Amino acid sequence: METQKLDRETLQAQRAVRNIVKHDTKILVYSLLGSLFLLYVLSKKFPIVIVLLIPILVMFLAINNWRQWKALIDYKLRCPHCGQVLAERVNFFWSPSPKCRHCGEIALATIKQLEQDEQVDVD
Ligand SMILES: [Zn+2]
Repeated sequence: METQKLDRETLQAQRAVRNIVKHDTKILVYSLLGSLFLLYVLSKKFPIVIVLLIPILVMFLAINNWRQWKALIDYKLRCPHCGQVLAERVNFFWSPSPKCRHCGEIALATIKQLEQDEQVDVD
């Protein structure tokens, strides 16, 4: 699939947001691993606690979606094509789509695009 070229300013703004989300990812992954380990230890003594596995995973998925939407909202990222804000409210069930919900154009760069542009900045 051919992705559209996003301008440099848009890519820089999106990279800043991505770096913040990336930092949160580490915290989230460690918290998830800690929770799973605690659950494993507790399940040795109380096997019934294993039923908490599904709510824990659902909760972490919801938090993962929340923080991605929150970053878009906090940094007021706008669609480079139509200028509308990309997110106004959080959705716990879906992560943000790369397509603008106003005009349908690709508004968020892929990780690959962000990294390619970053290399250009360094040169
Ligand atoms: Zn748009």
